[in-house]
Amino acid sequence: MSKFILIILLGQFLFSGNLRSIYAKNDTVPYSAHLLGRYIMHASVTGNERPAGLFFSTIARQRGFHVEILTDEPGSFNFTASLYPLEMNKPNIILLNHIDVVPATVELEHEYVHPPFSGAIDQGMVWGRGAIDNKGMGVMQLLGMEYFLEFASKTDLPFNVTMLAVSGEETGGYLGAAIVVDQFLELLNPVAVYGEGGAGLPGILRRDPERKLFGISIAFKRSLWLELRLTNITSGHGAVPPPDYVVKEKVQALNRLLDRSERVRFSGITRKMFNELGRIEGGARGLALRNIWLFRPFVMRSLRQEEVIFSLITNTATITSLNSPPGAANQIPQEIIAVLDCRLLPETQTEDFIADLRRIFDNDAIHIRIIHERERTDSSETGEYFDFMKEALHTVYEGSGVIPVLAPASNDNNYFRALGIPTYGILPVYIPVYLLETIHNVNERIPIDALEQGIAVYRELIRIIAATKYDVSGYELN
Ligand SMILES: [Zn+2]
Repeated sequence: MSKFILIILLGQFLFSGNLRSIYAKNDTVPYSAHLLGRYIMHASVTGNERPAGLFFSTIARQRGFHVEILTDEPGSFNFTASLYPLEMNKPNIILLNHIDVVPATVELEHEYVHPPFSGAIDQGMVWGRGAIDNKGMGVMQLLGMEYFLEFASKTDLPFNVTMLAVSGEETGGYLGAAIVVDQFLELLNPVAVYGEGGAGLPGILRRDPERKLFGISIAFKRSLWLELRLTNITSGHGAVPPPDYVVKEKVQALNRLLDRSERVRFSGITRKMFNELGRIEGGARGLALRNIWLFRPFVMRSLRQEEVIFSLITNTATITSLNSPPGAANQIPQEIIAVLDCRLLPETQTEDFIADLRRIFDNDAIHIRIIHERERTDSSETGEYFDFMKEALHTVYEGSGVIPVLAPASNDNNYFRALGIPTYGILPVYIPVYLLETIHNVNERIPIDALEQGIAVYRELIRIIAATKYDVSGYELN
């Protein structure tokens, strides 16, 4: 059988009988929304993932997936749901999501239209903590895979697809993705990972603001948290200030940091990003974006206005804390500590960045200590697995643009990418910005339409991988 015919058969299989099973309930609200609503009701603030994880894994098992609980410890419930048992050790496409959610903002209680863990279905949307981040994505992945369950049960495909749901993403992934990568990597046998990332956005392309643009992250800016301690034993009475004292010196040093003009850096990944963006944009602006290095002097002013884009071409340092020991109003403290949340571009070395800071502070007495830093990792190549997702997005969102991007912050994807596994971050939905802003906020909610489109993207992704990456021509459908 030719590959072409098989793709058509596979397509027919996918869009016939199985589609109905998803809409089996005789109402207008699809199963995906009911499932997400119930999943949200199992509140799973980081550290308390187990009830939600048990619920979601049980559903997966009931629907016919091969489920494995990888860990079931306090604050660490990690499980997989696969087309084939992991023990078969087939090359595996991993769809990664996280079970945990951030706490509800209690002080804003009166702002909630529906309680934060209601899972309410209202106004065509599913409401509650995790609707977008990240339970909604888990539901999309599972139900996208479900279209292939029956086919997989009758056919020994040369690859597996696994949904991996982990704990603790919101606090660094130490009890989730880190453990999985450390202890279960061989069992998972991943060839590619599709995890959390940004959603599709309108308004990026000037010539066609309506056109949707999806950015698939292939690298990220890594965090470097620094403590800046300054001790200076001076006279202690505020009425007769010494020429230098810690608060004054620290404020001066930090002022120099805030006043500096941040150096713009274009790395391989950001050039690739601007190049793709320029190609989609077209026209004069497109030409400038494609050759951003050449056109830098002309576009820099407008780039500085665009917060997100600007953060992708600069190292940033945000002062998140400034503290001296509590004392009387007329008492000069002898020590002061500031904390910086720095986000570094992939090619920036920690030592170089800190050396730069020292030059800017111009005060040798400031002692810099690293509180935490993420390791440097290479970016994933765009490559074939990038293209599969790109094609899936194009299929579901006709006329959309897809580009590789650098993510401004890291997430669980990094654990896999650090091992050289092609890893891509994307939330494959198109949601208005005002709804994206409900993430980690009051009234988090996702339109049911977006949920269904997300399912369609994962379904397409698997179909495309089956048809192009793996030679499925030797397999009969019945
Ligand atoms: Zn998340």
